[in-house]
Amino acid sequence: MEIAGKVALVTGAGSGIGRACAERLAREGAKVVVVDIDTAGGEETVRRITAAGGEAAFVQGDVGTPEGIAETFRAAKRVFGRLDIVHNNAGIMTGDTPGWPDAPLEKVHRVIAVNTSGVIMGTRAAVEAFRGHGEGGVVVNTASIAGLGPLPFDPVYAASKAAVIHFTKSCAILKELENVRVNAVAPGMVDTPIIAKTGDGTRPAKWLEPSLEGAVLLPPERIAEEVVRLIRDDALAGEVSVVMHESAQPAAGG
Ligand code: NAD
Repeated sequence: MEIAGKVALVTGAGSGIGRACAERLAREGAKVVVVDIDTAGGEETVRRITAAGGEAAFVQGDVGTPEGIAETFRAAKRVFGRLDIVHNNAGIMTGDTPGWPDAPLEKVHRVIAVNTSGVIMGTRAAVEAFRGHGEGGVVVNTASIAGLGPLPFDPVYAASKAAVIHFTKSCAILKELENVRVNAVAPGMVDTPIIAKTGDGTRPAKWLEPSLEGAVLLPPERIAEEVVRLIRDDALAGEVSVVMHESAQPAAGG
Protein backbone atom coordinates (compact mmCIF):
# COMPACT_ATOMS: atom_id res chain seq x y z
CA MET A 1 0.00 0.00 0.00
CA GLU A 2 1.23 3.44 -0.85
CA ILE A 3 1.34 5.38 2.44
CA ALA A 4 1.23 8.96 1.13
CA GLY A 5 -2.29 10.39 1.29
CA LYS A 6 -3.62 7.62 3.56
CA VAL A 7 -5.02 7.93 7.08
CA ALA A 8 -3.23 5.94 9.77
CA LEU A 9 -4.25 5.29 13.38
CA VAL A 10 -1.49 4.33 15.85
CA THR A 11 -2.34 3.25 19.39
CA GLY A 12 0.13 3.87 22.20
CA ALA A 13 1.53 6.65 20.02
CA GLY A 14 2.21 8.92 22.98
CA SER A 15 5.56 7.26 23.68
CA GLY A 16 8.32 4.96 22.44
CA ILE A 17 7.64 2.71 19.46
CA GLY A 18 4.16 4.11 18.77
CA ARG A 19 5.48 7.68 18.69
CA ALA A 20 8.31 6.71 16.32
CA CYS A 21 5.82 4.91 14.05
CA ALA A 22 3.38 7.85 14.08
CA GLU A 23 6.20 10.27 13.22
CA ARG A 24 7.50 8.02 10.44
CA LEU A 25 4.05 7.51 8.90
CA ALA A 26 3.50 11.26 8.94
CA ARG A 27 6.86 11.75 7.21
CA GLU A 28 5.74 9.24 4.58
CA GLY A 29 2.76 11.49 3.89
CA ALA A 30 -0.01 9.87 5.94
CA LYS A 31 -2.41 11.82 8.12
CA VAL A 32 -2.00 10.26 11.56
CA VAL A 33 -4.51 9.74 14.36
CA VAL A 34 -2.42 9.51 17.52
CA VAL A 35 -4.21 7.38 20.12
CA ASP A 36 -3.06 7.04 23.71
CA ILE A 37 -4.52 6.76 27.18
CA ASP A 38 -1.97 9.40 28.21
CA THR A 39 -3.04 12.83 26.99
CA ALA A 40 0.28 14.62 27.61
CA GLY A 41 2.25 12.02 25.63
CA GLY A 42 -0.26 11.91 22.79
CA GLU A 43 -0.39 15.69 22.46
CA GLU A 44 3.40 15.86 22.47
CA THR A 45 3.53 13.39 19.55
CA VAL A 46 1.06 15.53 17.60
CA ARG A 47 3.12 18.63 18.38
CA ARG A 48 6.28 16.95 17.08
CA ILE A 49 4.57 15.78 13.88
CA THR A 50 3.03 19.17 13.22
CA ALA A 51 6.33 20.95 13.92
CA ALA A 52 7.95 18.73 11.29
CA GLY A 53 5.31 19.74 8.74
CA GLY A 54 3.10 16.64 9.06
CA GLU A 55 -0.58 16.24 9.79
CA ALA A 56 -1.82 14.58 12.99
CA ALA A 57 -4.55 14.72 15.60
CA PHE A 58 -4.82 13.26 19.08
CA VAL A 59 -7.65 11.03 20.25
CA GLN A 60 -7.52 10.06 23.91
CA GLY A 61 -8.59 6.45 24.33
CA ASP A 62 -8.24 3.26 26.34
CA VAL A 63 -7.76 0.20 24.12
CA GLY A 64 -8.04 -2.07 27.16
CA THR A 65 -11.85 -2.15 27.16
CA PRO A 66 -14.36 -2.93 24.37
CA GLU A 67 -16.12 0.40 25.03
CA GLY A 68 -12.80 2.22 24.86
CA ILE A 69 -11.99 0.63 21.50
CA ALA A 70 -15.43 1.45 20.11
CA GLU A 71 -15.27 5.08 21.25
CA THR A 72 -11.69 5.52 20.07
CA PHE A 73 -12.42 4.24 16.56
CA ARG A 74 -15.64 6.26 16.34
CA ALA A 75 -13.75 9.43 17.22
CA ALA A 76 -10.74 8.51 15.06
CA LYS A 77 -12.87 7.98 11.93
CA ARG A 78 -14.38 11.45 12.37
CA VAL A 79 -10.99 13.20 12.48
CA PHE A 80 -9.88 12.74 8.84
CA GLY A 81 -13.04 11.07 7.50
CA ARG A 82 -11.67 7.51 7.08
CA LEU A 83 -8.98 5.03 8.13
CA ASP A 84 -6.64 3.04 5.86
CA ILE A 85 -3.92 1.85 8.24
CA VAL A 86 -4.29 0.72 11.86
CA HIS A 87 -1.28 -0.01 14.05
CA ASN A 88 -2.40 -1.78 17.24
CA ASN A 89 0.70 -0.99 19.26
CA ALA A 90 -0.28 -0.03 22.83
CA GLY A 91 1.09 -2.47 25.37
CA ILE A 92 1.96 -2.79 29.05
CA MET A 93 4.01 -5.09 31.24
CA THR A 94 2.96 -6.56 34.57
CA GLY A 95 5.61 -4.61 36.48
CA ASP A 96 7.30 -5.46 39.72
CA THR A 97 5.18 -3.84 42.42
CA PRO A 98 4.66 -6.73 43.02
CA GLY A 99 5.34 -8.90 39.98
CA TRP A 100 4.14 -12.35 38.98
CA PRO A 101 2.73 -14.41 40.68
CA ASP A 102 1.80 -11.87 43.38
CA ALA A 103 0.62 -9.13 41.02
CA PRO A 104 -2.95 -8.04 41.80
CA LEU A 105 -5.57 -9.85 39.73
CA GLU A 106 -6.67 -6.57 38.13
CA LYS A 107 -3.14 -6.04 36.82
CA VAL A 108 -2.95 -9.56 35.39
CA HIS A 109 -6.27 -9.07 33.61
CA ARG A 110 -5.26 -5.60 32.45
CA VAL A 111 -2.14 -6.92 30.68
CA ILE A 112 -4.27 -9.39 28.71
CA ALA A 113 -6.97 -6.75 28.14
CA VAL A 114 -4.57 -4.18 26.66
CA ASN A 115 -2.00 -6.38 24.93
CA THR A 116 -4.23 -9.14 23.56
CA SER A 117 -7.89 -8.08 23.61
CA GLY A 118 -6.82 -4.58 22.54
CA VAL A 119 -5.17 -6.04 19.44
CA ILE A 120 -8.04 -8.40 18.65
CA MET A 121 -10.72 -5.76 19.13
CA GLY A 122 -8.58 -3.18 17.35
CA THR A 123 -8.26 -5.46 14.32
CA ARG A 124 -12.00 -6.05 14.35
CA ALA A 125 -12.70 -2.31 14.54
CA ALA A 126 -10.18 -1.69 11.75
CA VAL A 127 -11.90 -4.16 9.38
CA GLU A 128 -15.23 -2.49 10.15
CA ALA A 129 -13.74 0.95 9.42
CA PHE A 130 -12.17 -0.24 6.13
CA ARG A 131 -15.54 -1.71 5.04
CA GLY A 132 -16.87 1.84 5.27
CA HIS A 133 -14.95 2.85 2.12
CA GLY A 134 -14.65 -0.59 0.52
CA GLU A 135 -10.98 -0.21 -0.41
CA GLY A 136 -9.49 -2.52 2.22
CA GLY A 137 -6.60 -1.59 4.46
CA VAL A 138 -3.61 -2.72 6.46
CA VAL A 139 -3.33 -3.65 10.13
CA VAL A 140 0.01 -3.96 11.94
CA ASN A 141 0.06 -5.43 15.43
CA THR A 142 2.95 -5.00 17.86
CA ALA A 143 3.94 -8.37 19.30
CA SER A 144 7.32 -9.07 20.95
CA ILE A 145 10.06 -11.68 20.90
CA ALA A 146 8.74 -12.41 24.40
CA GLY A 147 5.88 -14.08 22.54
CA LEU A 148 8.31 -16.52 20.93
CA GLY A 149 10.53 -17.53 23.84
CA PRO A 150 9.80 -17.82 27.54
CA LEU A 151 9.88 -14.72 29.77
CA PRO A 152 9.93 -16.41 33.20
CA PHE A 153 9.46 -13.25 35.28
CA ASP A 154 6.54 -11.87 33.29
CA PRO A 155 4.74 -14.90 31.85
CA VAL A 156 1.48 -12.96 31.55
CA TYR A 157 3.14 -10.47 29.20
CA ALA A 158 4.78 -13.35 27.28
CA ALA A 159 1.43 -15.11 26.90
CA SER A 160 -0.30 -11.90 25.83
CA LYS A 161 2.29 -11.44 23.05
CA ALA A 162 2.25 -15.10 21.97
CA ALA A 163 -1.47 -14.65 21.47
CA VAL A 164 -0.85 -11.60 19.27
CA ILE A 165 1.52 -13.64 17.11
CA HIS A 166 -0.90 -16.52 16.64
CA PHE A 167 -3.84 -14.17 16.12
CA THR A 168 -1.95 -12.26 13.44
CA LYS A 169 -0.91 -15.42 11.58
CA SER A 170 -4.50 -16.65 11.72
CA CYS A 171 -5.72 -13.37 10.21
CA ALA A 172 -3.80 -13.95 6.96
CA ILE A 173 -7.06 -15.06 5.35
CA LEU A 174 -8.53 -11.56 5.76
CA LYS A 175 -6.53 -10.57 2.69
CA GLU A 176 -8.80 -12.73 0.54
CA LEU A 177 -11.96 -12.20 2.52
CA GLU A 178 -11.77 -8.45 3.17
CA ASN A 179 -8.79 -7.05 1.25
CA VAL A 180 -7.22 -6.42 4.66
CA ARG A 181 -3.61 -7.42 5.30
CA VAL A 182 -2.83 -8.11 8.95
CA ASN A 183 0.86 -8.34 9.90
CA ALA A 184 2.87 -8.03 13.11
CA VAL A 185 6.22 -6.75 14.20
CA ALA A 186 7.93 -8.64 17.03
CA PRO A 187 10.68 -6.43 18.47
CA GLY A 188 13.53 -7.44 20.71
CA MET A 189 14.66 -4.92 23.30
CA VAL A 190 13.93 -1.35 22.22
CA ASP A 191 15.03 1.81 23.99
CA THR A 192 11.69 3.07 25.35
CA PRO A 193 10.12 3.83 28.76
CA ILE A 194 8.62 0.30 28.92
CA ILE A 195 12.02 -1.02 30.02
CA ALA A 196 11.69 0.90 33.31
CA LYS A 197 8.07 -0.22 33.56
CA THR A 198 9.29 -3.82 34.03
CA GLY A 199 10.17 -2.47 37.48
CA ASP A 200 8.51 0.34 39.41
CA GLY A 201 8.45 2.73 36.44
CA THR A 202 11.61 4.57 37.41
CA ARG A 203 14.08 1.72 36.95
CA PRO A 204 14.04 -1.73 35.35
CA ALA A 205 13.19 -4.82 37.35
CA LYS A 206 16.06 -6.71 38.94
CA TRP A 207 15.32 -9.73 36.71
CA LEU A 208 15.95 -7.66 33.57
CA GLU A 209 19.33 -6.32 34.70
CA PRO A 210 21.39 -9.32 33.45
CA SER A 211 19.76 -9.02 30.01
CA LEU A 212 20.41 -5.28 29.91
CA GLU A 213 24.07 -5.64 30.78
CA GLY A 214 26.01 -5.08 27.57
CA ALA A 215 22.81 -5.32 25.52
CA VAL A 216 22.30 -3.08 22.52
CA LEU A 217 18.78 -1.67 22.60
CA LEU A 218 17.29 -0.88 19.22
CA PRO A 219 16.10 2.67 18.57
CA PRO A 220 12.28 2.80 18.16
CA GLU A 221 12.84 4.24 14.67
CA ARG A 222 14.15 0.81 13.59
CA ILE A 223 10.77 -0.71 14.44
CA ALA A 224 9.03 2.08 12.53
CA GLU A 225 11.11 1.20 9.49
CA GLU A 226 9.85 -2.39 9.65
CA VAL A 227 6.26 -1.28 10.18
CA VAL A 228 6.50 0.79 7.00
CA ARG A 229 7.82 -2.26 5.12
CA LEU A 230 4.90 -4.39 6.39
CA ILE A 231 2.44 -1.73 5.25
CA ARG A 232 4.04 -1.19 1.83
CA ASP A 233 4.53 -4.79 0.69
CA ASP A 234 1.19 -5.91 -0.74
CA ALA A 235 2.32 -9.56 -0.68
CA LEU A 236 2.57 -9.70 3.11
CA ALA A 237 -0.38 -11.04 5.12
CA GLY A 238 -0.17 -12.97 8.39
CA GLU A 239 3.51 -12.10 8.49
CA VAL A 240 5.26 -11.80 11.88
CA SER A 241 8.51 -9.92 11.48
CA VAL A 242 11.11 -10.29 14.22
CA VAL A 243 13.33 -7.23 14.65
CA MET A 244 16.12 -7.52 17.16
CA HIS A 245 19.77 -6.70 17.53
CA GLU A 246 21.96 -9.55 16.33
CA SER A 247 23.51 -9.91 19.80
CA ALA A 248 20.11 -10.31 21.53
CA GLN A 249 18.67 -13.49 23.01
CA PRO A 250 15.09 -14.27 21.84
CA ALA A 251 13.59 -14.35 25.35
CA ALA A 252 15.06 -11.11 26.69
CA GLY A 253 12.70 -8.56 25.17
CA GLY A 254 10.06 -6.26 26.57
P1 NAD B 1 5.96 2.69 26.07
O1 NAD B 1 5.58 2.39 27.47
O2 NAD B 1 7.00 3.69 25.78
O3 NAD B 1 4.66 3.06 25.20
C1 NAD B 1 3.44 2.44 25.36
C2 NAD B 1 2.33 3.47 25.16
O4 NAD B 1 1.07 2.79 25.22
C3 NAD B 1 2.31 4.55 26.25
O5 NAD B 1 2.25 5.82 25.66
C4 NAD B 1 1.05 4.24 27.02
O6 NAD B 1 0.44 5.39 27.59
C5 NAD B 1 0.19 3.60 25.95
N1 NAD B 1 -0.89 2.78 26.52
C6 NAD B 1 -0.78 1.88 27.53
N2 NAD B 1 -1.97 1.35 27.79
C7 NAD B 1 -2.84 1.91 26.94
C8 NAD B 1 -4.24 1.76 26.75
N3 NAD B 1 -4.97 0.94 27.51
N4 NAD B 1 -4.83 2.48 25.76
C9 NAD B 1 -4.10 3.33 25.00
N5 NAD B 1 -2.78 3.52 25.15
C10 NAD B 1 -2.16 2.81 26.11
O7 NAD B 1 6.42 1.29 25.48
P2 NAD B 1 6.92 0.84 24.02
O8 NAD B 1 8.16 0.08 24.21
O9 NAD B 1 6.87 1.94 23.05
O10 NAD B 1 5.78 -0.23 23.71
C11 NAD B 1 5.00 -0.23 22.53
C12 NAD B 1 4.68 -1.67 22.18
O11 NAD B 1 5.88 -2.36 21.87
C13 NAD B 1 4.03 -2.47 23.32
O12 NAD B 1 3.02 -3.29 22.80
C14 NAD B 1 5.17 -3.30 23.84
O13 NAD B 1 4.72 -4.46 24.48
C15 NAD B 1 5.92 -3.58 22.56
N6 NAD B 1 7.32 -4.01 22.70
C16 NAD B 1 8.24 -3.20 23.29
C17 NAD B 1 9.55 -3.64 23.38
C18 NAD B 1 10.63 -2.80 24.03
O14 NAD B 1 11.69 -3.35 24.36
N7 NAD B 1 10.44 -1.50 24.17
C19 NAD B 1 9.92 -4.91 22.90
C20 NAD B 1 8.94 -5.70 22.30
C21 NAD B 1 7.63 -5.24 22.21
